Amino acid sequence: MFKHVSQSQTLLLNEQSRQRQQEGQEVFKLGFGQSPFLPPLNVRKSLQQSSLRKDYAPVRGLPDLCQAAAVFHSHYHHLDIDASQILISPGSKIAIYNTLLAFDQADVLIPAPSWVSYAPQAALCGHQIHYVPTSYEDRWRVTAESLEQILQECNAPNILLILNYPGNPDGLTYDPEELKALIDIFRKYGVWVISDEIYGLLHHQGKHHSLAEFYPERTFVTTGLSKWCGAGGWRLGVEILPAELSQEGVQSLIGIASETYSCAPTPVQIAAIEAYQIDPAIDQYLSRQRHILQVLGNKITDQLTTANIRVHAPEGGFYLLIDFTAIKAALQRLDIHSDIALCQRLMQETGVALLPGSAFGMQPEQLAARLAYVDFDGEPLMQATDTPNQQEIQDHCALMFRGITALCQWVNNL
Ligand code: PLP
Repeated sequence: MFKHVSQSQTLLLNEQSRQRQQEGQEVFKLGFGQSPFLPPLNVRKSLQQSSLRKDYAPVRGLPDLCQAAAVFHSHYHHLDIDASQILISPGSKIAIYNTLLAFDQADVLIPAPSWVSYAPQAALCGHQIHYVPTSYEDRWRVTAESLEQILQECNAPNILLILNYPGNPDGLTYDPEELKALIDIFRKYGVWVISDEIYGLLHHQGKHHSLAEFYPERTFVTTGLSKWCGAGGWRLGVEILPAELSQEGVQSLIGIASETYSCAPTPVQIAAIEAYQIDPAIDQYLSRQRHILQVLGNKITDQLTTANIRVHAPEGGFYLLIDFTAIKAALQRLDIHSDIALCQRLMQETGVALLPGSAFGMQPEQLAARLAYVDFDGEPLMQATDTPNQQEIQDHCALMFRGITALCQWVNNL
């Protein structure tokens, strides 16, 4: 009678860790990922002051916010977007879902690995899902060859690809050359792309290139406040629509929004106007976060690599996709043949929580898992007068590093 929809696996893991903690056992929460930083003070104040703004906002978003977001993303991402291309939503997750829903009958291409919610969302919309395989050797990137091979199987009236970079679960990005190679294929097959750039502003070098820069005609960019502004629970998503989207397409998206969520919370939209300002303070807020995340990601990569766990140094966001194939034989001797068994064993024997690669569309026997390096309070590091150095950052994140050490020791003792 009812559609089968299981609970998002990332949230489930968070529940398990919470329960273990309530039982008084130590948990290193390296599975669930949300920003460890607070939104900037002026943005928080603006939210506090706008609680009386109780009226519904326009479905598309407050005009001042659409304008601010258009200018902000044009500035940071080498784009030239107009406020009319911006659609504000209560989180980018629903923006992705509604974009999928706006297409009737589509083949939806999803890289494996990629974020947990894409496939369930595409399935809820009744679309045909095709996974695009990637490999450790190709840095988990979709290549023109792998894409074209899958495209040849597609026969629905519309083809959609969901691309996400910097990536969850991999922390890696696409450089402009890699994007251009893919775009040749997009143009050849008329592919629409939902480019999930929610971690774009957390590119560790501040060098994120939006797909809309190179493929404006068919790219829907989704982003929002959740990651770069530490405001996941505020629920504020920003979608940049393709420059030449037909009126029919725009109306479809606005129609779905109006029949589902109506608008993003008005007070949050007002606060978001403060966040989307070209302002040296916002610039500094971003570069401090990037520095902290880069230091942590690189240090953890070094430790894991020394312990014979394969991982690519991260380029953005706050995740690492770690690969245990180099110790497969030792794991098999312990009767561990799948990523889920591996994550359960790790939780039982070390208290380290990781999320299995199969939650991201990988094969269980690929023995991969996602590690999120955000189990610390980011505020003291953000408030320090001087930019914290590597040692200060490590010292501040001592609990998290105990978890990394426990993981490495467990592997070393196999
Ligand atoms: N896309 C990716 C890759 C994510 O990791 C997340 C959140 O975890 C989202 C989208 C959803 O973000 P939002 O809070 O804007 O809905």
